[in-house]
Amino acid sequence: MYYLGAHVSASGGVEQAPLNANAIEANAFALFTKNQRQWFGAPLSKKSIDEFQQNCTKYGFLLEQILPHDSYLINLCNPDPVALQKSRSAFLDEFKRCEQLGLKKLNFHPGSHLNELSEEEALLLVAESINQTLEATHGVMAVIENTSGQGTNLGYKFEHLAFIISHVNDKSRVGVCIDTCHAFTAGYDLLSEKGWHSTWEQFDKIVGFNRLAAMHINDSLKPFGSRVDRHAPLGQGHLGYEPFKRLMKDNRFENIPLILETPDENLWKEEIALLRTFV
Ligand SMILES: [Zn+2]
Ligand SMILES: [Zn+2]
Repeated sequence: MYYLGAHVSASGGVEQAPLNANAIEANAFALFTKNQRQWFGAPLSKKSIDEFQQNCTKYGFLLEQILPHDSYLINLCNPDPVALQKSRSAFLDEFKRCEQLGLKKLNFHPGSHLNELSEEEALLLVAESINQTLEATHGVMAVIENTSGQGTNLGYKFEHLAFIISHVNDKSRVGVCIDTCHAFTAGYDLLSEKGWHSTWEQFDKIVGFNRLAAMHINDSLKPFGSRVDRHAPLGQGHLGYEPFKRLMKDNRFENIPLILETPDENLWKEEIALLRTFV
């Protein structure tokens, strides 16, 4: 079964997100469990948590097909110890919110070394941040996303993801989310048939399909290898429709949330319907 959705708004409270996802005929969704531009949100009320779960049940969303994303402010390898601690506290808060909502996965970017650490030093800090958080929480998987490699962002190579995972103590609670736009602009050729197959072969060898916990389904406004992260609506960027047709015919992408983060929310319903026609 393919679980398709989009990163929907939770404005007015997390309990609104399943309604917004249902309106676009999704069977998966992503959300921020708090305002993503703030370090800490108001605690979730019992009413909000209950209504979130009731709405998920009402509209048939499985908790494991929901993919919350953490705040963009968090940098799990910030070279400054005070700033790192702030990020780690906020990250723990994000995990706790997922725990309260009964969610199973939290999606986040590895972090940025800010030219003050080597990539390896920074990746080790990320792993340490994940370990601390997993030890303090239960039942929520850390889902590391690949990036375009813009600026000093880590996570633009499958090797980065594998390196972090190799240093995570609880392997049962770590997975990855592959963003098609990020992979393509980071230099993984998802466009040609040959490139598509070799990319996923590399992924399987380096990270392993058993770690694939989610996908972000985005076309790319910027060309191959540009290392610039700008999403485009499906079929309107450099990827076009072909890669998404291949994806929807490949059972390795079944049973995980496949989430659109395309820029025009008015198109999400159509994009989801179109993806379903590719199956
Ligand atoms: Zn992301
Ligand atoms: Zn993404």
